[in-house]
Amino acid sequence: MSPTQPSPSARPDPVESARLFERASEVIPGGVNSPVRAFNSVGGTPRFMVSAKGCRLTDADGATYVDLVSSWGPMILGHAHPAVVEAVQQAASQGLSFGTPTPGEIDLAAEIVDRMPVEQVRLVNSGTEATMSAIRLARGITGRSVIVKFSGCYHGHVDALLADAGSGVATLGLPTSPGVTGAQAADTVVVPYNDLDAVRAVFEARGSEIACVITEAAAGNMGVVPPVPGFNAGLKEIAHAHGALLVIDEVMTGFRASATGWYGCDGVAGDLYTFGKVMSGGLPAAAFGGSREHMSHLAPTGPVYQAGTLSGNPVAVAAGLTTLRQADAAVYATLAENATRLGDLFTKSLSAAGVPHTVQYAGTMFSVFFSEDPVTDYAGAKAAQTWRYPAFFHALLARGVYSPPSAFEAFFVSTALDDDAFAEIEAALPEAARAAAAAVEPSA
Ligand SMILES: *Cc1c(COP(=O)(O)O)cnc(C)c1O
Repeated sequence: MSPTQPSPSARPDPVESARLFERASEVIPGGVNSPVRAFNSVGGTPRFMVSAKGCRLTDADGATYVDLVSSWGPMILGHAHPAVVEAVQQAASQGLSFGTPTPGEIDLAAEIVDRMPVEQVRLVNSGTEATMSAIRLARGITGRSVIVKFSGCYHGHVDALLADAGSGVATLGLPTSPGVTGAQAADTVVVPYNDLDAVRAVFEARGSEIACVITEAAAGNMGVVPPVPGFNAGLKEIAHAHGALLVIDEVMTGFRASATGWYGCDGVAGDLYTFGKVMSGGLPAAAFGGSREHMSHLAPTGPVYQAGTLSGNPVAVAAGLTTLRQADAAVYATLAENATRLGDLFTKSLSAAGVPHTVQYAGTMFSVFFSEDPVTDYAGAKAAQTWRYPAFFHALLARGVYSPPSAFEAFFVSTALDDDAFAEIEAALPEAARAAAAAVEPSA
């Protein structure tokens, strides 16, 4: 390239995002409403987005990015999909919230029941609320208090589930969180992911006190770490042998990993399920479900209380229902193709730059670990050369590719990624791989 040609990497400084971040930091803690958005683990200025269409985001400085985060999963059809936007506009024009049952929520519940091994679902507003409610229900049904979770699995910011959680908790290196009481933490037993022997040992010691095991259907919040063959089935067998329930958290994988979720990949049915992200269509909506028998323990039919002023909100329901109705076999085929195409590009450029790495998939989600060996648990995820990630991330960002701002998060493709987008990613990756290769491990 001649010195007079602008480098493809030359982008103006994000002046407006920097100004907004300063203002945001005055009135919002850390300037963000969810910690990973602050770029703490990669450094630099978080981009304030003002619009999005298809596979592209536009920030406050007018720069556009190919989006590989998809709002952390929900936007499988790409941003501002015409059918979803129209459904939302139509719903909004009929009124925003009634505080009564509405016809649409039946259709969304039925769509979930059709796809997943649940007979009933209740709609809530976030994945956190879904897992919190599922745990309460499991405790209510069994009359027991202890829950078993896995190191590196994230189930939202539920007090009892923050211990050794992935996602932002991993990004910030927090063991758990102040504000979670000893009593709440004491009823949570944390074991290594993919380790059935550890689960057996816990059940042998405390089986009669355990209400449930909760697991991500396939772990995606410590990077993508699929369950080893037989793991989910083994959990079910051990839990049931001791009268405990298996709660499968499909908030991330549900309706993304396959048309059902991870369930469509391994076929192991849980007792209770949690859903969110894709089924929300990008508005606040989530759900938890199970058999009619289990769900009958919930108020108003049963004694386990659970409620929500905006639960089943008609606008959110319209977004989620339309997204799921659009998400047919062709959509999942495209998602799978796009994930493989992207993962292959990562492998090609990182191999060329000599960066040790492993690209791991769970259905159509994947992430890259800077590690020679496959990662099977949180210890492995933390042992990877995560210090290479900020350089990789920023080299991509500077070339218009928006990746998750943390080494512990999955990449999420949409069906909207087109050949132009892939060409831009392919053009940006070699420099990003070289930046990752040149990164230096910080001294301890
Ligand atoms: C995102 C996520 C949650 C939390 O959902 P929110 O809507 O962010 O509260 C729970 N479980 C898993 C597996 C997730 O990926």
